[in-house]
Amino acid sequence: MPRLDPAEVRAAAGRLEAEPAEAVLGWALDTFGKRCAIVTSFQVEGMVLIDLARQLDPGARVVTIDTGRLPEETYELIDTVRARFDLEVEVIAPDGPSVEAMLTRHGPNLFHRDRSLRLLCCQVRKVEPLKRALTGLDAWVTGLRRDGGPARTGTGKVELDPAHGGVVKLNPLADWTREQALAYARSHHLPLHPLYEQGFTSIGCAPCTRATRAGEGERAGRWWWESTEDRECGLHQQSPSERLDTALAELRAEAARRRSELELG
Ligand code: SF4
Repeated sequence: MPRLDPAEVRAAAGRLEAEPAEAVLGWALDTFGKRCAIVTSFQVEGMVLIDLARQLDPGARVVTIDTGRLPEETYELIDTVRARFDLEVEVIAPDGPSVEAMLTRHGPNLFHRDRSLRLLCCQVRKVEPLKRALTGLDAWVTGLRRDGGPARTGTGKVELDPAHGGVVKLNPLADWTREQALAYARSHHLPLHPLYEQGFTSIGCAPCTRATRAGEGERAGRWWWESTEDRECGLHQQSPSERLDTALAELRAEAARRRSELELG
């Protein structure tokens, strides 16, 4: 089926906003089939979505981004999910020459030095691989919830995603709470990330995630050394700054040089 135009997406968004997660997912799978995928980092919301989607369509696609810096527990969980759902998880990795250029120029733990370098690392290891994954899709499904952080309060269940070429972005759990997702996962005996038991409430890369403390927000353990409340990696936002764009342009030039050396070599 051809890609939906903005008016069709707006109409679907209006129809589906008050519908439950199953209906939103069902519409997405019926409308886009294999051109739609759940994109997950295997937090509790991702487990709920995989379970719901596989009941509707056992062939529903699941994609994840392996940044190369994930905690070992996430890799173990991917294996558990593959076995539990008899599912082929599609793994997208960052572009090798871009990672090499970034590490050579800025060092392996650049994210601790300043926020622009942290965003650069997220861009190279997460945002650009996601863009690559979405070029082959017409729709992607996320586990975003409106109460998941300040940048997420306006999340709609069906959105047009201009940052990714106008694909449809589906957030079927937008009106769920974290407690609802955990309750669903427990009642359906879904595997949960082992780090939850150690007090982690939102889990990304190992060096950039810590457990949260009593009274802290759900995402307070992500990039905890930063003073800003905006604990986001850029996956759900447009490119955030001119400085980042400049650093990215430099890295892209260096990555292109490395690629051509490899080809010649
Ligand atoms: S979370 Fe940390 S290690 Fe992972 S991509 Fe972002 S800055 Fe890099």
